Amino acid sequence: AAPVVTIDGPGGAGKGTVAQAVAARLGWHFLDSGAIYRLLALSAQRAGLDAGQVESLVSVAQAMKIEFPATGAQAGQVLLDGEDVSEAIRSEDCGQFASELATQGLIRHALLERQRQFRQPPGLVADGRDMGTVVFADAPLKFFLTASVEERARRRHKQLMQKGISANLADLLEELKARDARDSKRTVAPLVPAEDATIVDTTDLSADAVIEKVLKAATG
Ligand code: C5P
Repeated sequence: AAPVVTIDGPGGAGKGTVAQAVAARLGWHFLDSGAIYRLLALSAQRAGLDAGQVESLVSVAQAMKIEFPATGAQAGQVLLDGEDVSEAIRSEDCGQFASELATQGLIRHALLERQRQFRQPPGLVADGRDMGTVVFADAPLKFFLTASVEERARRRHKQLMQKGISANLADLLEELKARDARDSKRTVAPLVPAEDATIVDTTDLSADAVIEKVLKAATG
């Protein structure tokens, strides 16, 4: 099977930025597994489903058409059944609903194969919560990025501002804490570092420093 580098950690720790840059530098594929959970949340919202309707949610998880074009006019977009939903899935609302759905074992199971399909030559950089512990437990190289919750809230805030989305720092902090608690306390695939993961506290590190660290290990 193609090699995989897994990059897990809580929201705002810089996984996305780092994983995308490392994938680009290596010329490997990139999987934003959080986007898959967010796509399911958006699909479910649109279908009027709530978190308790597990059977219907599993059907949606299996049926939704998801695309992450890497090249062409739609490069970088996230498509749900052909529609560009890149912005819609980034709302905090969608993130919270995604994390509620993500507590359900049956739903996680339904998304397992869909995530593994991204493992294609020449390699994959996978970003998420359980990439190293569950989805690609056999990956040869695993990282777990953390940062203080205050720093993570600041990064989220900055990211949203850059996208022209207004947000309140104090609200973001509370939302991150709520999501951290839910993600770490769930019984299925809780947010914990894999035993063989390298833990990197990025609170005082620049994105570039973390990218170089991962690349060094990957090409080492
Ligand atoms: O990383 P992101 O904020 O986009 O993820 C949204 C939510 O999806 C997370 O809070 C988490 O509950 C869930 N998730 C997960 N496993 C993953 C990726 C995301 O449970 N591998």
